[in-house]
Amino acid sequence: MLTLLNPRHAEHIGRHEMFRGRLVDSHESPARVEHVLAELRRRPLGELREPAVGDNELMSALRAVHEPRYLDFLASAWDDWVALDPANAGIDALPSVWPLPNRHGFRQDGWPQNIAARLGQFAFDSGTPLTAGSWVAARAGAACALGAARAVLGGERCAFALTRPPGHHAGPGFYGGYCFLNNAAIAAQALRDGGPARVAMLDVDYHHGNGTQTIFYERADVLTLSLHGDPRTEYPFFLGHADERGAGAGEGFNRNWPLPRGTALAPWRSALDEALQAVSDVGATALVVPLGLDTFEGDPISGFQLRSADYAGIGAALASLKLPTVFTFEGGYAVAEVGTNAVNLLEGFERAA
Ligand SMILES: [Zn+2]
Repeated sequence: MLTLLNPRHAEHIGRHEMFRGRLVDSHESPARVEHVLAELRRRPLGELREPAVGDNELMSALRAVHEPRYLDFLASAWDDWVALDPANAGIDALPSVWPLPNRHGFRQDGWPQNIAARLGQFAFDSGTPLTAGSWVAARAGAACALGAARAVLGGERCAFALTRPPGHHAGPGFYGGYCFLNNAAIAAQALRDGGPARVAMLDVDYHHGNGTQTIFYERADVLTLSLHGDPRTEYPFFLGHADERGAGAGEGFNRNWPLPRGTALAPWRSALDEALQAVSDVGATALVVPLGLDTFEGDPISGFQLRSADYAGIGAALASLKLPTVFTFEGGYAVAEVGTNAVNLLEGFERAA
């Protein structure tokens, strides 16, 4: 298994996030990737290298899944934040006002110039700190996803984009949930562009992959599947129900398995088996797995009960599809265990592949 590393991930360090009325330390930290990398060095699965992706090809891959105005916003947001007040250079950019869509309410077609308003136009939460290094780190991470997809197109059985910030909450024109660029979607689109007629995306993060679902919701060529905490009680709350089945040409090509807080391995694996069957049923020829490890029982912000030893079997189950596979690193906030859990799953995949 080839692992693509993001040499610039640590340039994105969120200091704070807003959580229920308080600014708290950000859960999404560089140490998450460092722990996975340390475990991959201890239990090697294959080559570790940085992607070789040119700037023009990267930007065209970003534009294939994200809106130009959103990418322009990300590129200038930090400079605009500091221009608003030089003292902002020492503070993470977080939105505090949003244009809620209500009939005869706030206009959605207005384009305020104040960065404080523009943050609220593009962010769906105040838990995703945008920092001086966010854009560069996110772009270098997207290059990992693109590099992983290309490696698989080139004949690798499997490639892992080990990067942060994560991506699966980022949509065509919005960010949130610690995510700016949707790495898994970028990989899926690159796979489509490179040959496979139908790509399946099986998101195993604790949280619903709302960004990914939104990007592909009206498409039949990328099947999007997600197992996650029930949005009635779990973040991101406003998407991820079982009745969201896709629309238009994509009708039937989105499936969600919302599971109650406290779910342990057996019912989680039952949902996984249904998702694996759905991948087989559509005849997918490549697989992308947004790999979140926040299903772990010790995760500080999640609520499932999976144990470290469970992840090897999950990896083996994913390998049973016998598809070229890209993994993208997503959530997992039990920092001390995230490396063990990630490598347990990837090793289980490798042994069964
Ligand atoms: Zn998550």
